Amino acid sequence: MKREIYGEDHETFRKSVREFLERSVIPHVEDYAANKAIPREFWLEAGKQGFLGLEIPEEYGGAGAGDYRFNAVATEELSKVNAALGSCWGIHADITAPYLVALGTEEQKQRWLPGVASGEILLAIGMTEPSGGSDLAALKTTAVKDGDDWVINGSKTFITNGYSADLIITAVRTSPEKKARGITLFAIPADAPGFSRGRKLDKVGQDESDTAELFFEDVRLGDDHIVGELDGGFIHMMQKLPQERLGCSISNIAHAKQILLETLQYTKERHAFGAPIGTFQHSKFLLAELFTQIEVSEAFLDQCVVAHDKGELTPVDAAKAKWWSSQIQNDVLDHCVQLHGGYGFMNEYRVARAWRDARVSKIWAGSNEIMKELIGRDLGL
Ligand SMILES: Cc1cc2nc3c(=O)[nH]c(=O)nc-3n(C[C@H](O)[C@H](O)[C@H](O)COP(=O)(O)OP(=O)(O)OC[C@H]3O[C@@H](n4cnc5c(N)ncnc54)[C@H](O)[C@@H]3O)c2cc1C
Repeated sequence: MKREIYGEDHETFRKSVREFLERSVIPHVEDYAANKAIPREFWLEAGKQGFLGLEIPEEYGGAGAGDYRFNAVATEELSKVNAALGSCWGIHADITAPYLVALGTEEQKQRWLPGVASGEILLAIGMTEPSGGSDLAALKTTAVKDGDDWVINGSKTFITNGYSADLIITAVRTSPEKKARGITLFAIPADAPGFSRGRKLDKVGQDESDTAELFFEDVRLGDDHIVGELDGGFIHMMQKLPQERLGCSISNIAHAKQILLETLQYTKERHAFGAPIGTFQHSKFLLAELFTQIEVSEAFLDQCVVAHDKGELTPVDAAKAKWWSSQIQNDVLDHCVQLHGGYGFMNEYRVARAWRDARVSKIWAGSNEIMKELIGRDLGL
């Protein structure tokens, strides 16, 4: 089905992202996986091309696109290369940078946004703690006022870009008695005394991304590191989570679609019993179903993008997009593995890695159970 939401400017932008990926990234992605990290050169080059500051106003070095469709295009193209590129770029440019843009003071914007747009300041977002991620309001990392300073103690885990980030927007408890209304966001620089990182976590998939534990031991920061309102962090996160979930959803479907297209090609080339395996009725019907699932999902997501651009994407619709897209992605990729037979289980095949990479999408950005909880509540249940 023809997609109607993208115009000439978006397609020109898509072409430039693709050219950048083909020239500077795809030849090196095997190294990214082997080193379990996306190198700084990627960020600097992406910054130079203007791909990191899409939401950052021009006066702070960004593109000030003011149109979420550009984020969506970048997410799609990166995720087609592999899911980790989509998620790491997403954490930096599509998820964390918008907190600084929307909530930062003038001084904070001048201090950090030019480096965020250029790739010199890599961002991460720290919400999840070892004791739990779903129940965000129960987080335990604290910031206690001591003179002019806040003294931060605690830890975060599973933080994407965590091993290499320069600045981490971190949710901490500032008013213990106020539960969800006692959480504040701090921008914590990685060179702050008392900040340390644990090991690079050994994941089942998305080898290219670095995911880490972060520790805060008497990290002292002033008020000028608070992002947004004191004690307003929970509300800020709730306001920003729909965009995070939409970005993840776009990535999920773009990733699955790309591997499905590659699988279709494989089923035309691979023969069994004297015929291409795709021509067996089972495979043909299955592929028909999978392409339908992808295109129908894409149509819903495109409507979410339009709604988001108008400021009308509801948290419930974002939750629907997130659980649905991750389920479809995982279902589609599981069938793609099956259609590849034994090769589908070999790490050297893109389909095998894509299948591993996809598993986390049902867990992060709010697990699918939490998404259904939100939707169920909206149904009055
Ligand atoms: C690779 C990776 C990267 C990540 N990147 C980041 C990041 O950059 N920043 C960040 O802050 N976090 C990140 N996360 C954390 C992720 O968001 C959490 O893992 C997720 O929110 C779930 O939290 P949890 O792991 O503590 O599971 P738990 O909260 O312990 O949940 C365990 C299980 O219980 C279920 N459950 C919990 N509560 C309910 C309920 N009320 N009803 C029904 N079921 C429920 C969950 O759905 C899940 O199945 C990342 C995780 C991974 C794996």
